[in-house]
Amino acid sequence: MLRSPHRTSATVLAALGLAALASPPAARAADPPLRIIVFGAHPDDCDETTGGTAALWAAKGHQVKFVAVTNGDAGHQSEGGGALAKRRRAEAQESARRLGIAEYEVLDNHDGELEPTLPVRLEIIRRIRRWNADLVIAPRPNDYHPDHRYTGVLVQDTAYMVMVPNVCPDTPPLRKNPVFMYAQDHFQRPNPFRPDVAVAIDSVYEKKILGLDAHVSQFYEWLPWIEGVLDSVPKEPAARLAWLRKEWGRPANADVRAALRKWYGPRADGVTHAEAFEVCEYGRQPGETDLRRLFPFFD
Ligand SMILES: [Zn+2]
Repeated sequence: MLRSPHRTSATVLAALGLAALASPPAARAADPPLRIIVFGAHPDDCDETTGGTAALWAAKGHQVKFVAVTNGDAGHQSEGGGALAKRRRAEAQESARRLGIAEYEVLDNHDGELEPTLPVRLEIIRRIRRWNADLVIAPRPNDYHPDHRYTGVLVQDTAYMVMVPNVCPDTPPLRKNPVFMYAQDHFQRPNPFRPDVAVAIDSVYEKKILGLDAHVSQFYEWLPWIEGVLDSVPKEPAARLAWLRKEWGRPANADVRAALRKWYGPRADGVTHAEAFEVCEYGRQPGETDLRRLFPFFD
């Protein structure tokens, strides 16, 4: 997802009133940094579900990696193939830079053709093991898009195998199973998403929007085209960013607001934007203390 012929510089961010994005993350004093790996089907999905929380982790010195399981080489009205994949890979790198996360890897599986096969499962097992993940986040396996659905299945299928030495023996197994969690979605069948944890992201909301803004080929080209609103996208960068903020600025729903109150108490009433996560019943089962350690944002 190539942003434009030039990369967004600190100067441009400063012009947008966002110079703070150029500053390095604060170091964390005590515990070792958390290691979080987030999977999405396409090179913008992790940013949508977890971009704000990722920016919060990164600002506290934690290590966050995003992985797109497909290369995004199909979802576009006028481009495709290797050129589109190359553009989307570059857009993902720019988004990672803006969010401050450690890595954004795009796997070379075709967009729109993902299947839950053993080779792809092994690719995912290797990523989780190499990252030595404390926490793994992925979509649920209920979704309108087969790539999203199968990404959910694929990651779920690693939730035990990451510890089995004879599976994928080229990469040492984890001795401690990570916590696996699902990112929020709106699908109702066979069961709706359950927000076990909700994170207030107002303080990094602009950063999240700038992460999405890096995915020009998605948010300003493909998604408006498929939704029939391409004519409404402004051409000028600042106006386009304002449009994006308006189109994607969905406030937290009632279920997520209830979860915010659980974790933040009365402070939750002042929160507008949040990201929520559901504990997967495979992988390590966290108690409240574990969740507070994995999401160190509530005190
Ligand atoms: Zn997607």
